[in-house]
Amino acid sequence: MNLDLDEDARAFQAEVRGWLAANVPRAAPPPVDTAEGNAAHRAWERKLAQAGLSVVAWPAEYGGRDASALHWLLFEEEYHAAGGPVRINQNGLFLLAPTLFTHGTAEQRARLLPRMARADDVWAQAWSEPGAGSDLAAIRSRAERTDGGWLLHGQKTWSSRACCADRAFGLFRTDPAAGPHRGLTYLLFDLRADGVTVRPIRQLTGDNGFAEIFLDGVFVPDDDVLGEVGGGWRVAMSTAGHERGTSLRSPGRFSAAATRLVELWREIGDPADGALRDRVVDGWIAAQAYRLHGFAAASAPPGQSSPFAASLTKVFWSELDIALHETALELLGPRAELPGDWLAGYLFSLAGPIYAGTNEIQRTVIAERLLGLPRGAR
Ligand SMILES: Cc1cc2nc3c(=O)[nH]c(=O)nc-3n(C[C@H](O)[C@H](O)[C@H](O)COP(=O)(O)OP(=O)(O)OC[C@H]3O[C@@H](n4cnc5c(N)ncnc54)[C@H](O)[C@@H]3O)c2cc1C
Repeated sequence: MNLDLDEDARAFQAEVRGWLAANVPRAAPPPVDTAEGNAAHRAWERKLAQAGLSVVAWPAEYGGRDASALHWLLFEEEYHAAGGPVRINQNGLFLLAPTLFTHGTAEQRARLLPRMARADDVWAQAWSEPGAGSDLAAIRSRAERTDGGWLLHGQKTWSSRACCADRAFGLFRTDPAAGPHRGLTYLLFDLRADGVTVRPIRQLTGDNGFAEIFLDGVFVPDDDVLGEVGGGWRVAMSTAGHERGTSLRSPGRFSAAATRLVELWREIGDPADGALRDRVVDGWIAAQAYRLHGFAAASAPPGQSSPFAASLTKVFWSELDIALHETALELLGPRAELPGDWLAGYLFSLAGPIYAGTNEIQRTVIAERLLGLPRGAR
C-alpha cells in the first residue's frame, strides 16, 4: 500500500495551504448566534466560495470543483490546521447536501446547492422533538395535505443554529395510520415563513447553540419534499450516515487538535510524568488512526462498507474528542479553568456522545447490525 500523496494531491494541498495562510482571519469571528458573528461567518463562506474552496468535492455546476473524496479530506486537514472559522452552514454542507445528491431531484439540486455553497441559505436540522430523540420514529409533528403542498404543525427541539439559519430540513408524520417508521416524510421549510417561531436555547458554553422550533400551519410546497412522500425514514437514515461518519466530523478536526496537544505537551509537559505523556501519545495515535481510516474509506470502491459502519466511526470520533480535550485540561492544571479554546472545546466535546444519535444507541447498532450479535431485550 502506498500512502504517499500523488503530485496532483500535493499541488492541491499546497494551493489550499497557501490560500488559507493568506486569508484565514487572525482573530476568530464573533459567535455565529450573534448578528455580527452571523454576518462575519456568511461573509467568510462567500469568500471561500469565490476562491472555489467552499465545497471542493461537489460538481462544478453547483459551486464545487469536482475534486475527489481524498482531496476533500486534504482540504479539511488544511482547514482545521489553519484554524479556519467554524462552518456556519455545516448542517447544510455536510448533512443535507450529500442527502440531496442521493435522494434529491435535479431541480432541487440546481435550486438549493449553489445557494448553500455561498451560505445564501444556512440550514438547520429539525428532527428531534420533546418526545422523540433516540426513538426518532416516535415523532409527532405532522404535515397535512393542502393545495400544492403541505401544512406543518408541531414542535421541534435541539435544532443546532436554528436561531441563525434560514431554512431547515425536517421529518414529519404525513400518514398517522401507518407504522412509526412508515408514513414519515422529509420536508424542507423556511424558518422565516408565517407560522414559524424559533426560540433559542442557551448552552453550557453560553451560546445559543440550538433552538426550539414551533410550527403552526407552515406551508411547504410540493417541490420541497425530499424523496418519496411516506419514504422519509430512508432519506433520514441516509442523512444520519453522513452525520455519524467522516462528513460531519472529518479526521482533519482531530489531527489538528492532536497536533496542538503535542505542542502543548512540548511547551508545558513534565517529562517525569510518563502517564500523562502516554495519554498525549495515545491521543495522537488515535487521531492518526482516524485519519488513515478516512483515507481508506475515501479510496474504497463505493458500496463496499456496511451502511451501519458510520455508527462505529461516530463512537470513535466522539470519544477521541473528549480524550484529547481531557488530556489537555489535565496538562494545563489549574489554568484549564481559564476561558480558552481547550476549555470551550472540552465543554462542546461532552455533547459528542449525544448528538448524531447517542453512543448507547450506536453501540446497539454496532452489536446487532455490524457484529450480528443477538438482539437485546426491548
Ligand atoms: C450539541 C447537540 C446538538 C444537537 N443538534 C441537533 C439538531 O441540529 N437537530 C436535531 O434534530 N437534534 C439535535 N440534537 C438532539 C440529539 O439528536 C438528541 O439529543 C439525541 O438524539 C438524544 O435524544 P434525547 O436528547 O431525546 O435523549 P433520549 O433519547 O431521551 O435519551 C436519554 C438517554 O437514554 C439513553 N437511551 C435512550 N434510548 C435507549 C435505548 N433504546 N437503549 C439504550 N439507551 C437508551 C440515551 O442513550 C441517553 O443516554 C442535538 C443534541 C446535542 C447535544
